[in-house]
Amino acid sequence: MNTIAQNLASPIQYLKGVGPHKAALLARLDISTLEDALFFLPVRYEDRRSMANIVKLLPETTQAVIGKVIAAEVISPSRKNPRLKIFQVVIADGTGVLKGKWFNQAFLQRVFKSGQTVVLYGTVKRDFYGAGLEIMNPEYEIIGTGKNEPPESGTDQIHTGRIVPVYRLTEGLSQRQMRAMMFAAAGACSQMIQEMLPQNMLDRYQFPARRDALMAVHFPPDSASIDDLNRGITPYHQRLSFEELLMFQLGVATLRRRQLTEHGITLNASGKLAGRLEQSLPFTLTAAQRRVISEIRNDMQASAPMHRLVQGDVGSGKTLVALISMLDAVEAGYQAALMAPTEILAEQHYLNIHKLVEPLGLRVALQTSSTKNRFLDDIAAGTVDLIVGTHALIQEGVVFHRLGLIVIDEQHRFGVMQRAQLRKKGRMPDTLVMTATPIPRTLALTLYGDLDYSVIDELPPNRSPVITKLLGEKQKDRIYQDIESALRNGNQVYVVYPIIEESEKTSLKDVQTGAELLREKFPKHKVNLIHGRLKPAERDAVMRDFTMRRIDILACTTVIEVGVDVPNAALMIIVHAERFGFAQLHQLRGRVGRGSDQSHCILLAYGHGDDARQRLSVMVETTDGFRIAEEDLALRGPGEFFGTRQSGLPDLKIANIARDAKIVELTRKEAFTLLEQDAGLATAPRLRGATERFWGKRIELFTTA
Ligand code: ADP
Ligand code: MG
Repeated sequence: MNTIAQNLASPIQYLKGVGPHKAALLARLDISTLEDALFFLPVRYEDRRSMANIVKLLPETTQAVIGKVIAAEVISPSRKNPRLKIFQVVIADGTGVLKGKWFNQAFLQRVFKSGQTVVLYGTVKRDFYGAGLEIMNPEYEIIGTGKNEPPESGTDQIHTGRIVPVYRLTEGLSQRQMRAMMFAAAGACSQMIQEMLPQNMLDRYQFPARRDALMAVHFPPDSASIDDLNRGITPYHQRLSFEELLMFQLGVATLRRRQLTEHGITLNASGKLAGRLEQSLPFTLTAAQRRVISEIRNDMQASAPMHRLVQGDVGSGKTLVALISMLDAVEAGYQAALMAPTEILAEQHYLNIHKLVEPLGLRVALQTSSTKNRFLDDIAAGTVDLIVGTHALIQEGVVFHRLGLIVIDEQHRFGVMQRAQLRKKGRMPDTLVMTATPIPRTLALTLYGDLDYSVIDELPPNRSPVITKLLGEKQKDRIYQDIESALRNGNQVYVVYPIIEESEKTSLKDVQTGAELLREKFPKHKVNLIHGRLKPAERDAVMRDFTMRRIDILACTTVIEVGVDVPNAALMIIVHAERFGFAQLHQLRGRVGRGSDQSHCILLAYGHGDDARQRLSVMVETTDGFRIAEEDLALRGPGEFFGTRQSGLPDLKIANIARDAKIVELTRKEAFTLLEQDAGLATAPRLRGATERFWGKRIELFTTA
C-alpha cells in the first residue's frame, strides 16, 4: 500500500506506513480519509524544543524530560501496606537521574525496558527523601528502543527538539505511532490543500494561508507560543475556526435569506379574541409581554412566514404570550398548535389553556401518545381550534385542517429538523419557538441564526426572587427546620435528588431512600416521589396530586425540571447540588417562586473542596438566568450546555463557540455581506463547494440564486 495518495478524500490506508490494521484503529477515531486526519487536531502540545537537563530541573515545574531507562521495576514502598505496588522507571541523561512513578499499573513492566530512550512529561517534585526528583504518573513516550533498530528517517524532527502535538488515542495505537502517522499525513496533504477564503478576507484579517495553518496546528513552528497553542488561539487555530464558522454561518444565512422571500399566510386578526382573554385574567400583562406580543403580531400579519424565537426566563409568562398569539391565529380563521417536550407538560398546557379559552367558546384538543387517535378526526375536520401535544403532533397520521401557527415550547429539546417537519404539516405556517433557557448571545446567533429574536425581560410584579442558600454536608440537619416552617406556612416542598435508587457504585443520595427518610421525619404530612422510571401515567398522577395539594413534600429527580407550575410550592431543596450544571439548577429553582409567598432554594453540597462551593456561589448571588448561562457556558462548553448534537446542526470540529465568540459574530456579518453581494457564491467557488460539503444533506444550499 505504498501508493502515493491522490487526493484528500483518499482512504488513510493508502498512506505510507498505514496498513489495514492501523486503518481499523484509526477508524475508531473517525479517521478514514487523509482529510479526516488533517482535521483531527491535537488535544494539546508539549514543549520539547529544548529538553531540560535533569540537573537543571526545578521542583514544581511541568517539564518534558528525555533520558535513557536505567531501571524499570515494581516496588512496594510501604511495609505496612504491602499490597501497594508502584511501578518505577529511572531515567538518566548524563547530567542526572529522574524517577517516574505510577501507582498500581504493573502492566507498565511490559512497556518499559532498560536501554530505551523515553520522554516523561509531568510536574517534577522532590522525592520522599528530599534528595532526588520524581514525577508522579507522568505522561510517557518511548522514543527509541535501544536495540539495533534501523534508523527511522526524520524521527528526530517529529518527536523531539520541537513543540510536539499530542493526540487523542485509541487502544492499540501509541502516541508515537499516531504522531508519525500525522506527520506523514500532513506531508502527503500539503500540496493538495487549497485556499478557500476569498483573498480580501485573508488580507483584512491577516490570516495565514490555509495550507500553512493546517500544517502548523499539527507541527507548530518553534516560534509559536505554547500557551496560545494549548488554548487553541494561535493565528493558525483562529484562521481554521474562522473558516469553519464561516461555512456554518453561510448555511444559516442562506436559510434565513430564503425565509424572507417565502410566501406564507397573512394572518389578519384585530386582537379582539385575545382581548377577551386578557380581560378574563386576574392580572395585567407586563410591558415586556405586550412588546413581544406586538412583535409577533407584526410577523403574523406579514406574508413571509414568521420564524421567531421568544426567550424568557422561567416564570416570565411565555405561555400566555403564546396563547394570545394562538388566539390571533384562530380569530383569523386558522388552527394553532402548541408542541411541548413532555407529556406532563403538554397535559398541563392543555388543562390551563382549556380552562382559559372554554369561556370564549373555543375547542382544544390534546395529542400525545396516550391520547392516540381520540382527536384526529376533529383536528382534520377543523372542529378543534387549538391543538396541544408532544412530538406525537409530527406523526404522519396527524392531519390539520388549516394550520396557521405553530408554537414550540422549551425548544432546546427539539431540533431544526423537527421544527421543519412540523411546519410541513401546514402550508408555510408561522412558527414561534419558546425557550426558558437563557441563551448567551453568541450561542443564540449560532444555533438560532435563522430565527428572529424576542426577549421577555421582565417578570410579573409582586414576585420576589427566590432566596438561595448554600449548605454543606455538616449543616444538613438545618434543612428539616426549613421544611417544617414551609409546611407550617401551608406551602409545599420539592426535594430534588441526583439519582433514582441506591447504588453501590456511588455514595450519592437517591430519591427512594430520601422519600423514606422524609416520611419518617414528617409522619403527619403526605410525602410522595416522582422520577423518570415511573410510567408516564404514574408520573402524571403524582404530578397531578402535587398540583392539587394532595402531596406536601415531593421527593423527585430532575424530571420536574421542565415547565410544571405549582405556585404553592415555595421551598426547594437540591441534594448534591454540586452534581448539577448551572443551567439545570436555574431551571430547577424556577419551579419555586411562582406564587405570592417568598420562596427559598437550598443547595446542599456534599464533599470537601471549596471548588464546588465557589462555583455554586454564583447561584446564591444571582437569579439572572443570562448571567448563570454565561458562567455555565464558560465552564462546560457549548456541546454539553446545549446538547448541540440534538440540534441537527453540523458538528464543529475546530471552533469552540465559547472561546471563539468574537469569530462567531464576525463570520455572521461576513456571511451576510458575502451573500448580499453574491448569493450563489459564484465568485468564491471553493468556499461554496466546501460549505455544501460541510452542511451535507441537511439543507440544500445555493440551488437557486
Ligand atoms: P414561563 O412559561 O415563562 O415559565 P408561565 O407562562 O408558565 O411562565 O407563567 C408563570 C405563571 O405566571 C403562571 O401561573 C401565569 O399564569 C403567571 N403569569 C403570566 N403572566 C403574568 C402577569 N403578567 N402577571 C402575573 N402573573 C402572570
Ligand atoms: Mg413555560
